[in-house]
Amino acid sequence: MTMKNKVDIAIIGGGIIGLYTAFELAKRGVENIAVYEKRYIGSGSTFRCGTGIRQQFGDEANIRMMKRSVEKWTTLGDEMDFPKFKMAKTGYLFLLYDEEEVKTFKRNVALQNSLGVPSKVITPEEAKEIVPTLDISEVIAATFNQTDGKANPFLAVYGLARKLRKMGIEINEYTEVKDIIVKDSQVEGVRTTKGEIKADIVLNAANAWAKIFNEKLGLNIPIEPYKHQGIVSEPFKKGEIKPMVVSFKYGGAYFTQKANGGLIGGIALKYGPTWDLTPTYEFLREVSRNFTRIIPALKHISIIRQWGGYYAETPDHNAVIGKIKEIEGYYLAAGFSGHGFMLAPAVAEGMAELITKGHTSLPFDFYDPYRFERGELREQAVQMG
Ligand SMILES: Cc1cc2nc3c(=O)[nH]c(=O)nc-3n(C[C@H](O)[C@H](O)[C@H](O)COP(=O)(O)OP(=O)(O)OC[C@H]3O[C@@H](n4cnc5c(N)ncnc54)[C@H](O)[C@@H]3O)c2cc1C
Repeated sequence: MTMKNKVDIAIIGGGIIGLYTAFELAKRGVENIAVYEKRYIGSGSTFRCGTGIRQQFGDEANIRMMKRSVEKWTTLGDEMDFPKFKMAKTGYLFLLYDEEEVKTFKRNVALQNSLGVPSKVITPEEAKEIVPTLDISEVIAATFNQTDGKANPFLAVYGLARKLRKMGIEINEYTEVKDIIVKDSQVEGVRTTKGEIKADIVLNAANAWAKIFNEKLGLNIPIEPYKHQGIVSEPFKKGEIKPMVVSFKYGGAYFTQKANGGLIGGIALKYGPTWDLTPTYEFLREVSRNFTRIIPALKHISIIRQWGGYYAETPDHNAVIGKIKEIEGYYLAAGFSGHGFMLAPAVAEGMAELITKGHTSLPFDFYDPYRFERGELREQAVQMG
């Protein structure tokens, strides 16, 4: 199929944000959309993520966004006629080891409850009922929310792409956008490795790479690529570790069991800013050390794969989402700092509303691209890894 040379909306980036936003736009009747992906869809951070989806944040905006996202993750399989895709509501379990942590998490749970998220503070013994192999000798409390969970990013991406193609939306893989064409402060299109495309609206959903375009356009928005890593283990008895288990004391570790019984997760060891994604031995060693402190029985299983991926980080670990005032027709949704997979449904919905109606009822002000230059950083988002 030949690529169109004129579209209404050009989306840079075929990750979960770009594809989901295309879907929300298409659902609203915008037909002439094209997605440009420099490699294959999902190949950026999305296929490298830890699969986690949680509403246990510490601020109102992220909790509201995630509550909406979970509603949408729940129905996505049906919406895209791909019932194989399902969010598994297996919960998130935060293990707490000192009074300071307990105080912070109690405050977070109260806020989450006030916004309709049914998280709760539980005892170490109750945590052990949820994950029987836990070592709770140092744990003094935990928080748990059953409506958090996980989803398979491969099924999400392929399901969305299949549905988009059925809806007549163009997804161009191996098509790199080299420049956003701007004339008299108005977007006119994109210049790709396969030719120029006219478009009045461009969405930059290139996440870790978003700053390359911003810099070329003279915009100073702090989004930097950091190398984080993940692992999967060989399968073991299914259902042993249902929730995402998190321990800030032990390396900022997070892990859960996948549908095939293997473990997936990581720790808070990062390198950068850097474009290098080479996996490190230091990470492998620290993952093993920290995971086995949380569940000693894990020493009996082997790690079978390790990979690097980008967190597109901002100074307050919150994304940058909105309309760019200096350039008419230019929108940005990037800098997801390690929680962009889970946020994608609400981000896409809000972005589609913003583009088609000029406003959204979702709390996009929180992610205002201009907060940095005003020196109004948000409270650091609760970040895994
Ligand atoms: C180890 C690890 C664990 C993680 N765990 C979680 C988790 O448990 N839960 C969670 O919510 N998030 C997690 N994340 C973060 C999550 O992966 C990202 O926030 C999310 O995938 C961002 O989606 P995106 O679509 O914005 O970016 P991406 O998936 O990176 O998509 C951007 C796309 O833009 C393309 N692109 C770049 N430049 C160009 C160009 N010039 N032309 C065309 N295309 C271009 C890239 O190739 C890429 O495919 C994790 C990340 C890592 C690395």
